[in-house]
Amino acid sequence: MSNETTLTVVEKKRKSLPIIIDQKRNAYLWESNRELKLKYMLSVEKIKRFFEGLAENKLLATKCEKCNELYFPPQSFCSKCLSNNMKWVELSKEGEIVTFTKIYVKPTSFSHYADYTIGIIRLKEGINVLAWISEKNVNKLKVGMKGRIEIVNREPENYLTYEIIPIEN
Ligand SMILES: [Zn+2]
Repeated sequence: MSNETTLTVVEKKRKSLPIIIDQKRNAYLWESNRELKLKYMLSVEKIKRFFEGLAENKLLATKCEKCNELYFPPQSFCSKCLSNNMKWVELSKEGEIVTFTKIYVKPTSFSHYADYTIGIIRLKEGINVLAWISEKNVNKLKVGMKGRIEIVNREPENYLTYEIIPIEN
């Protein structure tokens, strides 16, 4: 491309309206040229024990003292009986993979990762845990296969999280 052509393209861009047309409704939409970077800060004060647990290589859930309902991810109150009398329990980290899928089209905040596999493991305690699966080749996975949870370090952010490790029979 010659310099002249490049300039023409830039010039055209500059003079165009920041408007796109919604093809479905044939209506004008204003499109912002500024990208926002969002960073969330959420209070985890009431469930901080969960994060301490990860550092101790433990997967912790909360259990309602009143009705025995188990919560994972942990909740500081029981949505079943509305009690906030909860206790911490350590999960076995062992169970059965109930479903899985490979993610090729990622949410924006996950776009820097290579394609990854996610799934649900039903732990012995009857709790379903959604997490990444260490196996990237979905052909090696089967519904009903045994698996376990491992506390892992997620790169490149370098934080502790948990992942499903399939166990071959
Ligand atoms: Zn309860």
